[in-house]
Amino acid sequence: MHTLYIVVPCYKEESVLPETAKRLCEKINALISDDKILPASKILFINDGSDDNTWDIIKALYDKNPIFAGINLSKNKGHQNALFAGLMIAKDVADVVISMDADLQDDINAIDEMLKKFRQGFDIVYGVRSKRKKDSFFKRVTAEGFYKLMRTMGVDIVFNHADYRLMSKRALEGLSLFKEVNLFLRGIVPMIGYPTATVLYERAERFAGETKYPLKKMLAFAFEGITSLSTRPIRMIVAVGLIFFLTSVVILIYFIFDYFTGGTTPGWASTIVSIWAIGGLQILAIGIIGEYIGKIYLESKARPRFIIERILINTTIDKDG
Ligand code: UDP
Ligand code: MG
Repeated sequence: MHTLYIVVPCYKEESVLPETAKRLCEKINALISDDKILPASKILFINDGSDDNTWDIIKALYDKNPIFAGINLSKNKGHQNALFAGLMIAKDVADVVISMDADLQDDINAIDEMLKKFRQGFDIVYGVRSKRKKDSFFKRVTAEGFYKLMRTMGVDIVFNHADYRLMSKRALEGLSLFKEVNLFLRGIVPMIGYPTATVLYERAERFAGETKYPLKKMLAFAFEGITSLSTRPIRMIVAVGLIFFLTSVVILIYFIFDYFTGGTTPGWASTIVSIWAIGGLQILAIGIIGEYIGKIYLESKARPRFIIERILINTTIDKDG
């Protein structure tokens, strides 16, 4: 059996926290009494520098019931950092960790299914929203657009998966090897490797309070995700430069043809061709410089080159030869 930690980042969640705590506590107690997890399992709340009563609520829960644990960050550091803090603390004390939002939008009954997959040998289990019926039209369109944009920009993320996921201890240890400061967990977790599975669930409405991810933050989040994981935008510059330059060649051929059929205006051809040629070469040059900057950027992240799952080396020496 295993010790489970449920990690929940909270930012100004005073309106949902008591209910979330109650339901998660019931869930964990049920799992403990069904012998699915060890009694040392806990619910770990991370207060992300909220200026409301969130931390007081967490403290009160901790005082009342040892199943609750809390971490208070010195200031608001954003969802991804708060979550990462929780995961890194939990990895040392838990065998398996499930992360979820504080607002009960993720169906906590999917936990059973996630644990089942974990027992079958999966190290990472992604919670994936089956439908977005409960989300507003706007949220649905922007959110789905977000995943599509990320994919086009070369970021490998699981479609319709937010940060509701199970991770084993060794997967978390793998995650801890990623030293980058710009965190986009959804993009990094698939890089860890190990057997992965998905569990479908229906996303509910926010239980109370309002979203901490308005459109502006979501766009910033998407931009962060793309620029911290992919150098494809730089490659796009190279492509644009090439297209411009090739266009200049096409125009040149056209003008030569035009010259021999006698329809040219003096001076025009050379001007147009040079504008496109020089413009194209300039963009191309910027793109090539960008490629090197992209390389430096990726190097500076010092990501692990590999994570070893298992080593088979037999060191017993066969004396009989
Ligand atoms: N959150 C956080 N720090 C922040 C913003 C959000 O810890 O600066 C938490 C928040 O309390 C919630 C989770 O991140 O548990 C997701 O936020 P929210 O539910 O508002 O996002 P949405 O579901 O609307 O995308
Ligand atoms: Mg939410």
